[in-house]
Amino acid sequence: QTANISLDPRVEAFLAGGPKKLFIGGEFVASASGKTFETIDPATGKAITSVYEADAEDVELAVQAAEKTLAGAWAKVTPSERGRLLWKLADLMEEHAEALAQLETIDNGKPVTHARVADIPLAIDHFRYYAGWSTKLAGEVINNSAGPNMLTYTRREPVGVVGQIIPWNFPLLLAAWKLGAALATGNAVILKSAEQTPLTAIYLAELIQQAGFPEGVVNIITGFGPTAGAAITNHPRIRKVAFTGSTEVGKLIMQQAAGNLKRVSLELGGKSPNIIFPDADFSKAIPGALMGIFFNQGQVCCAGSRLFVHKKVYDNVLADMTSFASKMKQGNGLDESTEIGPLVSSEQFARVSGYLQKGHEEGATSLTGGAPLDGPGYFVPPTIFADVNERMTIAREEIFGPVVAAMPFDDEAQIADVIRRANDTEYGLAAGVWTTDLRKAHKVAHALEAGTVWVNCYNALDAAVPFGGYKQSGYGREMGSYALDLYTQVKAVWVNLD
Ligand code: ADP
Repeated sequence: QTANISLDPRVEAFLAGGPKKLFIGGEFVASASGKTFETIDPATGKAITSVYEADAEDVELAVQAAEKTLAGAWAKVTPSERGRLLWKLADLMEEHAEALAQLETIDNGKPVTHARVADIPLAIDHFRYYAGWSTKLAGEVINNSAGPNMLTYTRREPVGVVGQIIPWNFPLLLAAWKLGAALATGNAVILKSAEQTPLTAIYLAELIQQAGFPEGVVNIITGFGPTAGAAITNHPRIRKVAFTGSTEVGKLIMQQAAGNLKRVSLELGGKSPNIIFPDADFSKAIPGALMGIFFNQGQVCCAGSRLFVHKKVYDNVLADMTSFASKMKQGNGLDESTEIGPLVSSEQFARVSGYLQKGHEEGATSLTGGAPLDGPGYFVPPTIFADVNERMTIAREEIFGPVVAAMPFDDEAQIADVIRRANDTEYGLAAGVWTTDLRKAHKVAHALEAGTVWVNCYNALDAAVPFGGYKQSGYGREMGSYALDLYTQVKAVWVNLD
């Protein structure tokens, strides 16, 4: 479980200078309290470095910096120049891609080979995509019935000071998802990274400073949810909060945000169904189902954690998946041959281990995996549970680990039964369907209650395609043109020409 790549000197330089500071008003500063906390390498359980711990006073300073630039420098930056800054940031991230990938791996545990091809390039692409939107925001002139000389038009204006709170599973990518649309539309931001994975957001802050954004446009703070996070959601002059995280904390965010009726967008948990029909192309469906649950150690909000396989092919599909999963190489993410890394923290390790135990207690059978590994590090092997029924805890609750609950279904012609079972959840983030029958594919896609449906693919994401939840998986859509609605407010202007 050791690393086999040499560390990028930029990572070594970055880590040498701890404790890492908050980025407020264009400067790197210690927290008002002076308190710090350690961030842990999940592959070893050892501290990587420490970071300053923000709280309400730091949030207040960030809000003041954001308000100052909204009334000053940022307001004078043209849309074209905003786009240029976002593009510049993307270029800098590309230059620093290897350092960012390694840092993400050290802090989060994910295989560096995955960070290199997924997290980092997707984050870069996200900023480039929204750079383009900066110059394409428009209102409309509306033909009204209020009289021949009444001109009415709309403007899309920024919301103002925006708070953003992100989790630890895709630390840099989710920072990009949050910042891209907010900055393209002219807002000023206070972003709080997750306490488990603060490092790439701080590295990103250095690049934001280099790119030349006016000071105070982006403020990045590190700290805990009930303190720094709650200070954001409770702040009376923050007008919007965007949150990605658990459904449980999403509910708290809404309550806190109600204080000043902040606009709220929430991207929350999931228990996504992945349905394999007997006419699927198994050369794609089997790797797709494996990737759908084991990518990022299963710590993916849209993970395909409920696997419905038609009974005609159930045994074969599970045998193939088991054979592959049992051979996956698990280890330190900094080893390039690693296919699955550790879970992010000792808390998640304990949580997921608890679900494994519960699965066995409730009568499920693990075909592979099924028990956590001994330390150091927080390793849980890829686990496939068979003999699962829908009332079991492992089939209902979000595990957020490499654990899939497989269940057979037997209606081919009607599809109604498997649809009903797939939709029998309070979540609705994503779903997958594997079939070569075009009609069935679309019928099922339309019937599933989920914000994303993947047909003959899984976990596909693109900056141009909206992403978000149905039911208790949240609301609001990030990415694509849809995210612009989260960060703009529409003003109607009436002009009497008489
Ligand atoms: P997870 O369960 O995946 O760790 P959480 O939903 O607990 O995710 O946390 C996601 C983010 O929300 C983190 O940045 C965390 O600090 C923050 N957070 C947790 N509790 C609160 C809270 N009460 N108010 C605001 N932010 C919070």
